[in-house]
Amino acid sequence: MTHMHVAGSIHADAVASAPHWLQLPEDVNALVPQLWSRTVRRGDEGGLEVGGLPVAEAVAQVGTPVYLLDEVDLRARAREFAEAFDGWRVYYAAKSFICTAVARWVFEEGLGVDVCSGGELAVALRAGVDPRVIGLHGNNKSVAELSAALDAGVGRIIVDSSDELDRLEELTRRRGTRARVMVRVTTGIEAHTHEYIATAHEDQKFGFSIASGQALEALRRCHESDQLELLGIHSHIGSQIFDTQGFEMAARRILGLHARVRDVCGVEMPEMDLGGGFGIAYTTMDSPSTPAELATSLREIVAHECRALDVAVPDLSIEPGRAISGPSTMAVYEVGTVKGVRLDSGAERLYVAVDGGMSDNIRPALYGAEYSATVANRASGALPRLSRVVGKHCEGGDILVRDEFLPGDVAPGDLVAVPASGAYSRSMASNYNHVPRPPVVSIRDGRLTTLVRRETLDDLLALDTGA
Ligand SMILES: *Cc1c(COP(=O)(O)O)cnc(C)c1O
Repeated sequence: MTHMHVAGSIHADAVASAPHWLQLPEDVNALVPQLWSRTVRRGDEGGLEVGGLPVAEAVAQVGTPVYLLDEVDLRARAREFAEAFDGWRVYYAAKSFICTAVARWVFEEGLGVDVCSGGELAVALRAGVDPRVIGLHGNNKSVAELSAALDAGVGRIIVDSSDELDRLEELTRRRGTRARVMVRVTTGIEAHTHEYIATAHEDQKFGFSIASGQALEALRRCHESDQLELLGIHSHIGSQIFDTQGFEMAARRILGLHARVRDVCGVEMPEMDLGGGFGIAYTTMDSPSTPAELATSLREIVAHECRALDVAVPDLSIEPGRAISGPSTMAVYEVGTVKGVRLDSGAERLYVAVDGGMSDNIRPALYGAEYSATVANRASGALPRLSRVVGKHCEGGDILVRDEFLPGDVAPGDLVAVPASGAYSRSMASNYNHVPRPPVVSIRDGRLTTLVRRETLDDLLALDTGA
């Protein structure tokens, strides 16, 4: 349409082959601000900069692939949540990405930390996070993990099954202590980004179902147990959620349950957790809410439901992960090969193969997640071409960015940056094809700090006993 004058009709086929949400850019070098961490810009030479350091310089120091983390951005996002949700407690979901420095930063910015394994707990403790603001999650926590949490004195354990309650009562009895618990419930509301599914029974592994009565039973058991201190109900409805309608539906159900516990057990539980899942922008089609907008909506929802049920507003908490770590980090790769592939429509797609792939970002292969990309080492005067950024692994589904317009002169040796790669990328990375996992490097005020070093072939070979 209005962009046709830029590319000319020769690109009409390519535009027609792109998904509806992907616009042919007026300027292929332009950055869409919502996709990038806040210190990212194109420098005078046309290359990308983050934290005052050209990406090409960072790459010269640490190589590719690499995750470049914008410390100012991550801290600012953590702080914005803490400020917007003043009076609530905000727990950073460590599973999105954790290392000692990040745990320390979010704690310094006023957040607690949610962990869901002994490994994540060990990192949070090493970072000096106050155990009283650590929560332990998981649908199958081991005795060793529960013991480690009790030893550390974590502020809450989010219990997920009757077997876990048995284990926890046994462990606390032996120690002569009590455990502070929340009960994870399934509300029957599941968020799928833009839609919600509300079902009568919940066919998934997490939590105690409200509809079946198991949730009320578990809450009653915790309330009556001498070993357990019941804090309240916990609900997490999903991830990459863009509006508050699902939280409203969930809040209605869990506050209803909260009021039932008052009626049945005669106590108003002091706390309640609404979980995480706040969406971020991976592509131009995503428009996330700010923490301030989320806080306003969630406060209203809870106040409204509490009034309707005539219960006091409990102490609330939330657990954002992706919304803090995701946008802070770009993944940077080097292009190795470029291939034009003719599509049935007659258009051509550039397959831009880079030196990473599904081992450092499994999300496109795992859930069809969409990403964006730009050439990072230079600006280009070439026309945009419909492109697909793919990895180096032995799988056809090894795609990093399914659909993007990259400059038509993208070539081996160029650097490609993929924004919003801070959450569930390094934390889900594997050694598929015996590819060593990339480092995480933070940049601030022009200075680079390695937070997690690059894995080496020696690291990999060391695990193989050779027997
Ligand atoms: C994964 C998870 C979160 C964080 O989800 P994000 O989408 O990263 O915000 C929070 N709470 C629980 C219980 C989770 O499982």
